[in-house]
Amino acid sequence: MNIAIIGAGAAGCFCAAELRKRMPQAQICIFEAQARPMAKLAITGGGRCNITNSFADIRSLSEAYPRGERLVKAAFRNLSPSDTLTWWEQAGVSLVLQEDQCYFPKSQSALQVVHTLEFLIRGCTLLLRTKVSSIRKDGDRFAIFSANSNVPQVFDVVVLCSGGGAVSMLSTLPQIEIQSPVPSLFSFRINEPKLCALMGTTLSNAKLKLAGSKYEASGTLLVTDWGLSGPSVLKLSSYAARELAEKGYKARLLVNYLSLGQEELLSLIASQKARFPQKLLLNMPLKGLSSRLWAYLLERAGIRSDMRWAELGSKGAGRLASVISADEYQIEGRCRFKEEFVTAGGVAASQVHRSTLESKSYPGLYFAGEVLDIDAICGGFNLQAAWSTAFSVAKSIAEKFL
Ligand SMILES: Cc1cc2nc3c(=O)[nH]c(=O)nc-3n(C[C@H](O)[C@H](O)[C@H](O)COP(=O)(O)OP(=O)(O)OC[C@H]3O[C@@H](n4cnc5c(N)ncnc54)[C@H](O)[C@@H]3O)c2cc1C
Repeated sequence: MNIAIIGAGAAGCFCAAELRKRMPQAQICIFEAQARPMAKLAITGGGRCNITNSFADIRSLSEAYPRGERLVKAAFRNLSPSDTLTWWEQAGVSLVLQEDQCYFPKSQSALQVVHTLEFLIRGCTLLLRTKVSSIRKDGDRFAIFSANSNVPQVFDVVVLCSGGGAVSMLSTLPQIEIQSPVPSLFSFRINEPKLCALMGTTLSNAKLKLAGSKYEASGTLLVTDWGLSGPSVLKLSSYAARELAEKGYKARLLVNYLSLGQEELLSLIASQKARFPQKLLLNMPLKGLSSRLWAYLLERAGIRSDMRWAELGSKGAGRLASVISADEYQIEGRCRFKEEFVTAGGVAASQVHRSTLESKSYPGLYFAGEVLDIDAICGGFNLQAAWSTAFSVAKSIAEKFL
């Protein structure tokens, strides 16, 4: 039994490790374009590797996986998030749960995860600096062509784990439908100098909406020197990844700084007015808004900074409530958030058998990780998809061929 894995990333190495356990006699050859395996895994989570999530704050899988929810659900039947914790603990990587429900290695080191997988895949042939250029069907087997050699290598089974967007080698297998790759998890560039001057301002529970669409997201919002970022922005960029790409990353954004409705805000404003009639508005911000942001919002609502609360009429209160609950900005483009970046798109879910992740058109060809049309919001969900899909593939291959 002769298995090729294309891509020595998170999914490829996890799949190889699981295949080694299940099929110790199989010949496993891993093709990797880069000079070392798992280069991306080594920098995940800012070098700490957010390995998975408890899923405690997730009401439905589509909230975490805007694309690929069904494939992920099927893969979780083979390796659930709690099975994943056990898998890593048994491999010697102790994990800790943070308050935000993200799991990290106790060592706080992504390299521990990388070294553990490197240890588990020893015995596999690892071909580094070997970029696969095409995969061709060769009878019942597959021929793999790489940039390094004109002579193809032939395998019984191929597992494609080449990550987000790396699907060009599939052009020789035309029956496989690909969802065009587009970026996900990015910050918004907004040309509003007065907003950007508030760089560093954080709101713990803002609500964002793309005007005229169904897309919205809540969570922490961070003002940066180029626009807006933070978990709420990354989440919204993920939910609307394809639509934003189609619009050239130009869209109108509505920001609700306190996640409160107009009526709730009007009553808050009224109670502030009743409590502090003689105080300057500028000196008495609403709870949850910093002094700098408050001054900026008063200006956006056209309210004089030397006005006292008693002087604020109903029109002014209405304008202020509107600005706080639906401040409108033009998104001018996207900005990468500290390289934390995944690709939406890839091999379409319809192309694989859901429980085995084997190609429907080319039996013996399997897919795992981000090469599939699966991607998630931040929080360890992307790696969880890589672990579970890789595990499912290894299990399917072992069950089919042993
Ligand atoms: C900076 C950063 C931080 C991140 N942090 C987190 C985090 O903390 N938690 C989380 O859940 N997710 C995180 N992610 C997302 C996560 O890293 C990916 O979802 C995950 O790595 C996908 O695994 P994969 O194996 O499918 O793809 P990859 O890890 O991208 O691996 C694919 C491999 O295939 C190789 N390859 C590609 N084409 C070819 C070819 N033609 N021939 C041979 N080899 C090829 C590539 O070189 C690569 O090594 C982060 C992403 C980035 C960029």
